[in-house]
Amino acid sequence: MDFQYHYTDEQERFRQEIRSWLQANIPDEMRNPVETDDFTPEMYQFWRQKHKEMGVKGWMYPTYPKEYGGGGLSVSHAIVIQEEFSRHSVKSPFSNGLLIPSLFVWATEEQKQRWLVPFLKGEQVFWQKFTEPKSGADLASYQSKAVRDGDDWILNGSNAFVSAHNSPVPDWLWGPMQTDPNAPRHRNLGFFMIPGSAPGVEVVPQNLVHGHEQHMIFLTDVRVPGDHLIGGDHDGWQVANTTLEQEHGGRGSAGYSDEVVDNLVGYMQAKMRDGASPGGNPVVQQVAAQAYIEAHLDSLFGSRTYWMYTNRMEISWEGAASSLYGREYTMRTMGKVRDVMGMEALIGSHDPLAPYGGMQEFEQRARFIRQHGAGSLNITKVVVARRIGISRTRERPAPTPATATRFDA
Ligand SMILES: Cc1cc2nc3c(=O)[nH]c(=O)nc-3n(C[C@H](O)[C@H](O)[C@H](O)COP(=O)(O)OP(=O)(O)OC[C@H]3O[C@@H](n4cnc5c(N)ncnc54)[C@H](O)[C@@H]3O)c2cc1C
Repeated sequence: MDFQYHYTDEQERFRQEIRSWLQANIPDEMRNPVETDDFTPEMYQFWRQKHKEMGVKGWMYPTYPKEYGGGGLSVSHAIVIQEEFSRHSVKSPFSNGLLIPSLFVWATEEQKQRWLVPFLKGEQVFWQKFTEPKSGADLASYQSKAVRDGDDWILNGSNAFVSAHNSPVPDWLWGPMQTDPNAPRHRNLGFFMIPGSAPGVEVVPQNLVHGHEQHMIFLTDVRVPGDHLIGGDHDGWQVANTTLEQEHGGRGSAGYSDEVVDNLVGYMQAKMRDGASPGGNPVVQQVAAQAYIEAHLDSLFGSRTYWMYTNRMEISWEGAASSLYGREYTMRTMGKVRDVMGMEALIGSHDPLAPYGGMQEFEQRARFIRQHGAGSLNITKVVVARRIGISRTRERPAPTPATATRFDA
């Protein structure tokens, strides 16, 4: 089967424009490194500036409307951008993009101008603070508190595993706070924008097996004005669910990308060329072929969801099922990489002998830990079960920019 998408002349010209700009503007030493912890402060400053320049071109968030800082470009253009960014190891945004749908659906026009525009232009950095030290899977049991003080709110609480996307500090933290301890679940939360520099905000890096990308956050008597609340006093669960709809796979993604599998196939081909095992072994060939097929199946699932999203169809189980498959196959892939490449799959990026710059080894750790991000696999299965009608409870998808508003997002 031909998995290749064939581009128009206009799309190829657009690709050339991006490629030329990237070649002229991104020196090799600034390319996003394999190992998270090798991302230096110099790289951070460099990419903050480049993200702003690419934001002006509309390349950071291509399909969002221009009036809010997006590119106003088509899905095809977005795919071309994504392919070229991946080819040139462009550093992805420092912000957690899951905030975007919630702002589109729930923020007032004033709030959109205040937060959405600098977000989509790559001017400010936004981190998601959902998980608390005692629980993350059950977001509705959120305990950190917001108490009214005149027009302001006073915030107290703590979070864990907050991803930094390689930024040392956030301009903004966003997420729920309990606004009414006496109200029932799902009606007791508000959703807040919190300045990262506010007095009482403390950020402490955590050390996980793939690096120092996650953080504990402590809020002690942090004061925020009333207009930092997105939605009503008790709408936080609903606002968060617009975000979670996307986090659980509900926007999908277009285009194929699995560099680890590409490397595995390249490794096999190279081994076949010099006639040595394992490339010539038919059993090993089957293992690698299966990894290739699963990677492309994953991109087909993601593309289907993306197609549904861009056509404003209500997404039921499809997003979560795709997210589940995506995480499970990556773990199977890493097993196959070890089976085929043996010890070479375990040589880290700092060793000159590491194949593919150590990516095969780094991804052994990163893909393992990513099983738990974006809600665990169990939670993803619960979402699928509720939506195909085999759970004690049922759930409808939360509104997203595709189903709730009138523009292409
Ligand atoms: C790499 C990475 C990046 C992350 N980035 C962020 C971030 O940027 N912001 C953020 O807020 N959080 C982030 N997280 C946290 C992540 O969202 C949580 O780890 C996840 O939601 C699970 O929460 P927990 O770790 O507290 O596990 P728990 O909630 O304690 O769950 C433990 C186990 O119990 C299971 N379980 C719990 N409740 C249920 C239930 N009702 N039904 C079935 N099974 C259940 C879970 O599936 C899991 O297996 C990140 C985590 C990782 C690993």
